[in-house]
Amino acid sequence: MISFSSLQSSTNLISPAQLQSLSLRSNFHQTNLNQLRICFRHRRRLRGGDLVIRNVDATQPYDYEAKLSDRHGSFAKLKIGIIGFGNFGQFLAKTLVRQGHTVLAHSRSNYSLIAGKLGVSFFSDPNDLCEEHPEVVVLCTSILSTESVLRMLPFQRLRRSTLFVDVLSVKEFPRSLFLQILPPYFDILCTHPMFGPESGKNGWTGLPFVYDKVRIGEHEVRVKRCEDFVDVFRREGCRMVEMSCAEHDRYAAGTQFITHMMGRALEKLNLEDTPINTKGYESLLTLVENTSKDSFELFYGLFLYNKNAMEQLERMDFAFEMVKRQLFGNLHGLLRSQLFDGSEMKYKVEEERKLLSDSSLNDSEFASSSESKTVEKN
Ligand code: NAP
Repeated sequence: MISFSSLQSSTNLISPAQLQSLSLRSNFHQTNLNQLRICFRHRRRLRGGDLVIRNVDATQPYDYEAKLSDRHGSFAKLKIGIIGFGNFGQFLAKTLVRQGHTVLAHSRSNYSLIAGKLGVSFFSDPNDLCEEHPEVVVLCTSILSTESVLRMLPFQRLRRSTLFVDVLSVKEFPRSLFLQILPPYFDILCTHPMFGPESGKNGWTGLPFVYDKVRIGEHEVRVKRCEDFVDVFRREGCRMVEMSCAEHDRYAAGTQFITHMMGRALEKLNLEDTPINTKGYESLLTLVENTSKDSFELFYGLFLYNKNAMEQLERMDFAFEMVKRQLFGNLHGLLRSQLFDGSEMKYKVEEERKLLSDSSLNDSEFASSSESKTVEKN
């Protein structure tokens, strides 16, 4: 395949067939092709046949990344600081960078190399990140460490109108932390992208994005900045769901926590990939795969910081017990009828009669003993 740079930098011969093959390449920029076609027509008039290209003076972007940023060229670009550059922070950063936003990051561990590869500026010291004055600060730390991380941020180095966002998988907890700890002049947006590096690896189309505009200043600049951030997800095709943090937690305990709990429990069974996997079994394997790659800290956070999770855990226990009882109840009935070969009814009646006579004996004993006690008292 002929590369456009080689066509640009030297004198090359290109046939109409090669030109056709270039047009089939998905990453070959249309403008470049048009220029080649013009040149080709021009040369054919001069020489008839092959095309000679001499340094086509076109510095057009033609690679994939550039094409995508072209597509995203028309909207506001934000300066976004990510605090907590682990699994999810990096996942989010890839899309932010692709959309053309300026992304800064800080984390407890040193992620300079990874950040460099992603096009993110990494700051080991949060003071340095804050002095860059990001318009938006996104908290991507583990649920358990959120409070300590938030308390160590040097708020005084940020602009007074900074928008604070979180992406925690529980929502009431960060909402009350933000309201409690952040200075009143910062805006607050609580969000939960309900997908991650596994479930969102093939794009975010149709995946739910939950958000709650907890405290956004009335000034149009603040309102627009919040919208611009939410648009990051809208633009990727997410299913946008605006709901209160409390409502989110109620639903999430009944959906997300149960999903993670089942995935973790199934993981303990070491399920095998077999030659006779059914579709249902395949979905169990996928569930294990999707949930087991998340840190245990994340799962523990879902349990500890969602007040509805414990109730769901108890319901699951109860449901498991009920299904077991149903199975064993049926099994007992079957075994009994086999063991007693039709005389089961007789057996049952005798059992019940015995039970009744025992209880009546107990009752009368109880009655007589209480009578005697009354007499003694008198
Ligand atoms: P995680 O285990 O929940 O969090 C890892 C992040 O927390 C890393 O950046 C880590 O920093 C930081 N961290 C942990 N303990 C810390 C401490 N004591 N002090 C400072 N930083 C600490 O895994 P995650 O998947 O990256 O999730 C991050 C957040 O995104 C969580 O709140 C989670 O609920 C949310 N979220 C995750 C997903 C998902 O699919 N994974 C989806 C939606 C939302 P270092 O790496 O520098 O140690």
